[in-house]
Amino acid sequence: MQQVTIYNTATRKKEEFTPINAPHVGMYVCGPTVYGEAHLGHARPAITFDILFRYLQHIGYKVRYVRNITDVGHLENDADSGEDKIAKKARLEELEPMEVVQHYTINYHYCMRHLNVLPPSIEPRASAHIIEQQDYVQRILNSGFAYESQGSVYFDVEKYNKKHPYGILSGRNIDDMQSNTRNLDGQDEKHGSLDFALWKKAKPEHIMQWKSPWSKGFPGWHLECSAMGEKYLGKEFDIHGGGMDLLFPHHECEIAQSTAANGKSAVRYWIHNNMITINGQKMGKSLGNFITLAELFAGTHPLLEQAYSPMTIRFFILQAHYRSTLDFSNEALQAAQKGMEKLLQSIDVIEKLPTAATSTINVAELEQKCYAALNDDLNTPILISHLFVALREIQSIANGSGSITAEDKEKLTELYKTFIFDILGLQPALNQSSDAHAEILKGTIDMLLEMRLQAKQQKDFAKSDEIRNKLTALGVTVKDTKDGFEWSL
Ligand code: ZN
Repeated sequence: MQQVTIYNTATRKKEEFTPINAPHVGMYVCGPTVYGEAHLGHARPAITFDILFRYLQHIGYKVRYVRNITDVGHLENDADSGEDKIAKKARLEELEPMEVVQHYTINYHYCMRHLNVLPPSIEPRASAHIIEQQDYVQRILNSGFAYESQGSVYFDVEKYNKKHPYGILSGRNIDDMQSNTRNLDGQDEKHGSLDFALWKKAKPEHIMQWKSPWSKGFPGWHLECSAMGEKYLGKEFDIHGGGMDLLFPHHECEIAQSTAANGKSAVRYWIHNNMITINGQKMGKSLGNFITLAELFAGTHPLLEQAYSPMTIRFFILQAHYRSTLDFSNEALQAAQKGMEKLLQSIDVIEKLPTAATSTINVAELEQKCYAALNDDLNTPILISHLFVALREIQSIANGSGSITAEDKEKLTELYKTFIFDILGLQPALNQSSDAHAEILKGTIDMLLEMRLQAKQQKDFAKSDEIRNKLTALGVTVKDTKDGFEWSL
């Protein structure tokens, strides 16, 4: 099996990837909070962990990939105050919260399918794991690192920090953090300003609430990932990922929760993708540069000069290393579109190469370089550059100034198909809209039937029958008319 190194955010260095129970790998990635349409910011973590999921399976691991849907408990501003994001949307739109969740989950899945992001093995919802979350709260209370206050339960960060360091993931120090937060007034439910909610008592008007030993309420946002990660991957698992924006407080709190409940952090390797900026700016609704994926696919946002296919967006994201920042602009996307088309066409070029007794291209070396790129912290831009550099050699073979053996040609075709389709997940067909598909299908059937007509005119009835029988087998009904033919599906 290939030896993979991966950058672990928790240790701030590249580490050899050694799963706890190889060949099995447990991977948990924080999924979307489904209260709005999927946007450009959702595409990067989805694609980053899709590549990891695909690659680990490709090299022989059996991966259980859990990506949750947050449908309760994520409050505005990621803090312990404000309204629940989904409940707020439901109130404003006069919908049931689960209608909001259903609508935006379907939208998210639609966008992911178009981006050719494979579905995870399990996609659990927070609202379907209230019992597991309550059990987790109870265990933290039993360990002494949480307290009940006016019906809510809070994690005691100061007490925890006396025994286990709080802030290891983000590199923050509790004293600095405390001096940066407001002082608590005497009325506050929390004992310390850094304490975070494990369970919140709901106000009577709060739409989503459940019975618990402490109050009718709802779970804290950070808790769901600890509870669902443990349920599906065990008390200790290999990979936990997400965008860098989740590093603090979300993932930091997850480490504290699992350490408090189980005595140790649940996660071996923390992996975080960097963020996407738009023309150098952070994406945000107030900045007018908030672009949904549906707007990108259709080209309907004022910042867009054209529509961009899902595969262009996928390739654009893969052209940067997942830990680098990535700046979105029309120019960058147009360049990505050209690059992707060239790469996809390369397979055609390879398949048409004439073969010879000797090869001027070293396929084994190219293969080794491609694997080395991905083994080095999933370096997709280096992988892509190897494929492009080799394309020059391939062009020279096509031009007759180089040569390739039949055996090498087969290996090279396989190599390009494996890396482009299976691992990078690029798909030429998805570049086309479904209307375009219908056009291609219609054109192809018409062309075949024209060829059949010519065969008949030339009295080649064997050929004409063969075309008709094969089309019939594919579900195309052909009817001969005095003007030629008619067909239907
Ligand atoms: Zn999470």
